[in-house]
Amino acid sequence: MADPTGPGDPPRRLLIVEDDRELTRMLAGLFAEQGYAVDLAAEGQRGLHLGLSRDYDALIIDRGLPVLDGVELLRRLRGRGITAPALVLTGYGSLADRVAGLDAGAEDYLVKPFEIDELLARVRALHRRHLDRAQVLPLGAGRLDPGSRLVSLPTGEHVELSGREARLLMALATRPAQVHTRASLRQRVFDEARTESIVDTYVYYLRAKLGADVVRTVRGVGYRLGKL
Ligand code: CA
Repeated sequence: MADPTGPGDPPRRLLIVEDDRELTRMLAGLFAEQGYAVDLAAEGQRGLHLGLSRDYDALIIDRGLPVLDGVELLRRLRGRGITAPALVLTGYGSLADRVAGLDAGAEDYLVKPFEIDELLARVRALHRRHLDRAQVLPLGAGRLDPGSRLVSLPTGEHVELSGREARLLMALATRPAQVHTRASLRQRVFDEARTESIVDTYVYYLRAKLGADVVRTVRGVGYRLGKL
């Protein structure tokens, strides 16, 4: 099966929240084989903690979880501005269950037991839809085209970003309501870097190119998207 990431791309980060250990082990191995970086949580509170503290490209959340059920977990993540696409696994196939999951902010759901190929296809589709939506990202009165790495300024001028600058700005702009910790940005954008100071360096570069307001510092927490 095809690797979901191209050569040189950072691995896609996936969070799986599932209390069935055997299923979790199987899914973790499967997605790791496909080139994903996988984090696991066996109950809802841990899933909430990970979902809020790290950036993920997709979430797979079991509906029936101890401590905090999957629907409530997703509702809380969405309430805190986490927009990573989510697929809910449910043991029940009733319309009410499906509606509850979608109402809480899931993009898709799958009824257990499911075929593995079906799950892989659904998760790939989640990525595609997410990327399509993210093709041009608004930055206040300007916008970023991740494909060309060009930022259109409100004045009509264009500024070209380096690959790392564009990835950092994309990470902020795809979750504009969220405050990102330096640790989560380092992990997401500069996976190979050992220290979080690289995040500060690239924030400095972005501000030098696009103006001081493009990235806001949230004292004691990290950074969030500003405005052009
Ligand atoms: Ca369960």
